[in-house]
Amino acid sequence: MNRQADFSNGLLPAIIQDFYTGKVLMQGYMNQEALEKTINEKKVTFYSRSKERLWTKGETSENYLNYIEHRIDCDNDAILIKALPDGPTCHTGDDTCWQETNSGKVMFIQQLTEIIKDRKNNPTDASYTTSLFKKGINKIAQKVGEEAVELVIEAKDDNKDLFLGEAADLLFHYLILLEAKEISLDEVLEVLIKRHQSK
Ligand code: AMP
Ligand code: ZN
Ligand code: ZN
Ligand code: ZN
Repeated sequence: MNRQADFSNGLLPAIIQDFYTGKVLMQGYMNQEALEKTINEKKVTFYSRSKERLWTKGETSENYLNYIEHRIDCDNDAILIKALPDGPTCHTGDDTCWQETNSGKVMFIQQLTEIIKDRKNNPTDASYTTSLFKKGINKIAQKVGEEAVELVIEAKDDNKDLFLGEAADLLFHYLILLEAKEISLDEVLEVLIKRHQSK
C-alpha cells in the first residue's frame, strides 16, 4: 500500500534523516505544498510556523537538504525524509539540531551492503566487487584472510593511516563474504545479541 500523508488536521511533523548515516538532522513542519515542492525540486522545504510561509532549508545559508526519498508513518500523520545535506543543518553550525556523541556513521554499513548486493546482482566489468563474486566464495574467503593478516601486520606498527586502511579493507571484504554466503549482518548481530541476553 502506498501511504498518503493526511494533512486534514493541519501541518505534519517532518523528520529529516541523513540518507547515508541515518543520523536525525532536524525536524520541521510540512503542509501538502511543502511536501510536493520538496519532492519536485529535490530540496527539503518546510512550512515555517514562525515565518508563516514555505521555507526551503538553505535558502539563505545554501546549506540545502537534498531530497532522496520519503516515508509516511503507520497512521499517515508523520513524514520521514531521507536527504543529503550540503553543509551543517543546524543554524548553530552543528551538523544536526541534536548534539549527539555517536557520529551515526555506523549506519553507512547498510548502504555499503546494498552497494555490494547490487555489484553481485548487476555485474559490471569495471567493478572489483563484481570480479570477486565471479571468482567465488573460496577466493573471497581467502581475501578476508589476507586482509586480516595485513591488519595484524599494521597493528604492530604505529602508522594510524595504514591501520585504518587495513581495518576498512577487512570490514569491506567481510561484508562481501557475508553477501556471497547470503547471510545478512543482522543474522550475525543476532548471534552476538543472544549471547549478551543469555548472561
Ligand atoms: P537557512 O534555511 O539555512 O538559509 O536558514 C534561514 C533561517 O532559518 C535561519 O536564519 C534560522 O532562523 C532558520 N533555521 C535554519 N536552520 C534551522 C534549523 N535547523 N532549525 C530551525 N531553524 C533553522
Ligand atoms: Zn503517526
Ligand atoms: Zn538547529
Ligand atoms: Zn588490505
